[in-house]
Amino acid sequence: MSSIEQAAKIISSSRKGVAFTGAGISAASGISTYRDSGGLWDRYGTQGILNVLAKYPDKTHEILDGFFSALEKAQPNPAHLALAKLEEMGHLEGVITQNVDNLHREAGSKSVYELHGNLFRFRCMTCGKKQGTRRKAFFDMVRPVLNKAETFSLEALLMAFPKCECGGMTRPDFVSFGEAVQDLPKARIAAQTCDVMLVVGASGVVYPAAALPEIAKSAGACLIEINWKESELTSLCNLSIRAQATEALPQILSCLKSAKKS
Ligand SMILES: [Zn+2]
Repeated sequence: MSSIEQAAKIISSSRKGVAFTGAGISAASGISTYRDSGGLWDRYGTQGILNVLAKYPDKTHEILDGFFSALEKAQPNPAHLALAKLEEMGHLEGVITQNVDNLHREAGSKSVYELHGNLFRFRCMTCGKKQGTRRKAFFDMVRPVLNKAETFSLEALLMAFPKCECGGMTRPDFVSFGEAVQDLPKARIAAQTCDVMLVVGASGVVYPAAALPEIAKSAGACLIEINWKESELTSLCNLSIRAQATEALPQILSCLKSAKKS
């Protein structure tokens, strides 16, 4: 039996599956993983977009233009779509993600626990109220500011974001390095109560997110890793599929679909 077939068999006999995803799942959507070679953390020697900007104030425009351009064009890839389909089929209860790119929701996933927030949602810096937006609407606000490199500044960018109803300024609701993660209680319950966890494209080095697979494992879940390379989580996993998630997840999905038919 191939590892894909093994994974499908485990998922089909599970009671409650959960996916845990990291930057690797969005790489095929054109969003480079931050820590891999050429990624933001790799290039600038520090982690977190705000830290990068603080370290290189004169490169603010260049860094944000590169960061946003990839996100502007990004679309859900076959891995995101397969996870949404697994949820629809009842095989997954939800997705715990470290990504801020909104691609799980755009793919159709309904229960998404976004540990590091969501770039396409605004948070009031005064009262904390949040308001969602869409990728296109976000870039309709950001592009005019970003396109004028000579007058660009972080302040100008903040001014382009919508005001809260309380009158406060807003910022994208992502969790920067050192800030508290979001959705953690719900994600922790999902990890504690699942019996299968799909660990997809996660490096396993960012805490507290990386503790969730450990929590699932300690609570008795079977961990299936889907990653083209080894990660810090590999030793924890019962099964590791060394392949691109964009290939492996649709293959697992079609195994499950044909099992259902027969
Ligand atoms: Zn407010």
